[in-house]
Amino acid sequence: MKTKPTIQALLTCLALAVALPAMADDEAKEVEAGERGGRLLATESPRPEFFVEKDHTVSVKFYDADGKVVAPADQQVTVIATGDEKKKLQLEKKGDALVSTEPLPEGDGYGLVVQVRADADSRPENFRFTFVNHICGGTCGNPEYACTCDE
Ligand SMILES: [Zn+2]
Repeated sequence: MKTKPTIQALLTCLALAVALPAMADDEAKEVEAGERGGRLLATESPRPEFFVEKDHTVSVKFYDADGKVVAPADQQVTVIATGDEKKKLQLEKKGDALVSTEPLPEGDGYGLVVQVRADADSRPENFRFTFVNHICGGTCGNPEYACTCDE
């Protein structure tokens, strides 16, 4: 189904586009979560949601500005585990997601770098955070790596 963006939506987008660069770089970035309770990464849309499956494989879905899942196009995502067991995961297209061909190292509490490229020729945007997998004890109900609770 095709929907035309309304003027109101366009104005909202413009307002956001103007407001965002004004934020201080060193300000702690708030974590946002996607529909599956994964960590929504701050790229231009479509934005990737980093999500770890029960078998420890990584699954990334992309959301457009309206929060709808869009199939990955030319995006390339690499996940690097930087703990004692270093591991680099490549993600491949599978349905409307990019999934890793191998699982993350066992356990959690180690650092991750998620590299997102708009296409194979683009420079990567790097997202670093600690992978803590248990469900947050607060109100968000997400895994800790995607916890959106205010402290
Ligand atoms: Zn939380």
